[in-house]
Amino acid sequence: MSSASGSARRSGATVIQAYRFALDPAPAQERMLRSHAGAARFAWNWGLARCQQRYQAEGRWYSGSELHKLWNAGKKADPALAWWAGNSKCVYQEAFRDLDRALRDFIASKKGQRKGKRLGFPRFKKRGRCRDSFRFSTGAIGCTGTTVTLPRLGVIRTHESTRKLARRLGAGTARILSATVSRTAGRWFVSFTVEVERAIPERHARPGSAIGVDLGVRTLLTGVDDQGTVVTVAGPKALRSSLRRLRRASRAHSRKAAGSANRRKSAARLARIHARVATVRADALHKATSSLAARYENVVAEDLNVAGMTRNRRLARAIADQGFGMARRMLGYKTSWNGGYLLLAGRWYPSSKMCSGCGAVKAKLPLSERTCRCDCGLVTGRDVNAAANLLNLAASGAESLNARGGTVRPGPAGRVPVKQEPGAAHADQTGTASEQPLAAEQELTHAH
Ligand SMILES: [Zn+2]
Repeated sequence: MSSASGSARRSGATVIQAYRFALDPAPAQERMLRSHAGAARFAWNWGLARCQQRYQAEGRWYSGSELHKLWNAGKKADPALAWWAGNSKCVYQEAFRDLDRALRDFIASKKGQRKGKRLGFPRFKKRGRCRDSFRFSTGAIGCTGTTVTLPRLGVIRTHESTRKLARRLGAGTARILSATVSRTAGRWFVSFTVEVERAIPERHARPGSAIGVDLGVRTLLTGVDDQGTVVTVAGPKALRSSLRRLRRASRAHSRKAAGSANRRKSAARLARIHARVATVRADALHKATSSLAARYENVVAEDLNVAGMTRNRRLARAIADQGFGMARRMLGYKTSWNGGYLLLAGRWYPSSKMCSGCGAVKAKLPLSERTCRCDCGLVTGRDVNAAANLLNLAASGAESLNARGGTVRPGPAGRVPVKQEPGAAHADQTGTASEQPLAAEQELTHAH
């Protein structure tokens, strides 16, 4: 946080955001992109082989900067490595940094110092079996409105407008820290990690306003606000139709014989539709969460996707889970940009099973049941009931709210102080040209 500037009611803050754009490279540029991705993969494998050898012999490996030195010496001595100069030298260095990070994550995970899934020792990357990705952190990196500029690759056209970022760069309120190029479902993307100056209001424009939000599968989200207004965001038509296409393609894919050319083709098609769904969903979520964060000081949502909320089919599940996490992160940073808060209900809070009228909790509520009928006479939609419960939770106090690692700020007068979940998002998950903040440590790992 930097010190306050401008008017007394606003404070300046520096946030790290990701800007992601789909690239439209010329054929020669496409070849260069592949070459750089190959170079990053080669450097990773080259470094990993050395680290493995040393680990077996001495129980330790090389750091990223040691690998870089070894590489600089090796590439001149070994004629087989003469092709290195065809790519930006930055790409090799960044691959060694990624490897360094992956090795440290492995150790932290082994010692139980790292949250999440247990990590294995880093693996070798195989062409076609890993994500094509590489990164620049120095050199000519920028954008103009319809293009981006990258070291060695020059000016590349983009499918989306880069104007928002270009304007910030021009005004001096943004600084690009790095550019990660990656390929998803046959399409190239660049994700800029950008340091942005933001003016954050001391207090939300509508103090005391609150909304409970139920994140859904059928609808994007359903909310109930402190005035009793029900807000439903159905999601764009494009999302529903691409989801339908995804289901069809997935069924067709499962019928193809394993190892056949047809199966390979259908897998590529499936990946393309997946990428499309992710883009459309992210775009819709950006719009919906921006509007919620602007309108309500307190937004209450569930912390995690409560088990059983989605139909127990892997495809629907994966898509929904991805959406929940994304929506939660967006609400986290967008509420804080507006001077508001994201409040998270604990994962055991029975927002769906409880009657929002009388508080009676049902033992079971089958997923097919889209309406809540209670003995007290209340009949509501399932999503509306859940949203109303989340809203009630905010009004009743914060004891059930979960805010791990949040920063504490005084809550609205007459209310229990609430905690705020700071936003953190992953560059890969936007799929759009929208802004989102990025945790610096995630940025370093996301090129794997
Ligand atoms: Zn009831």
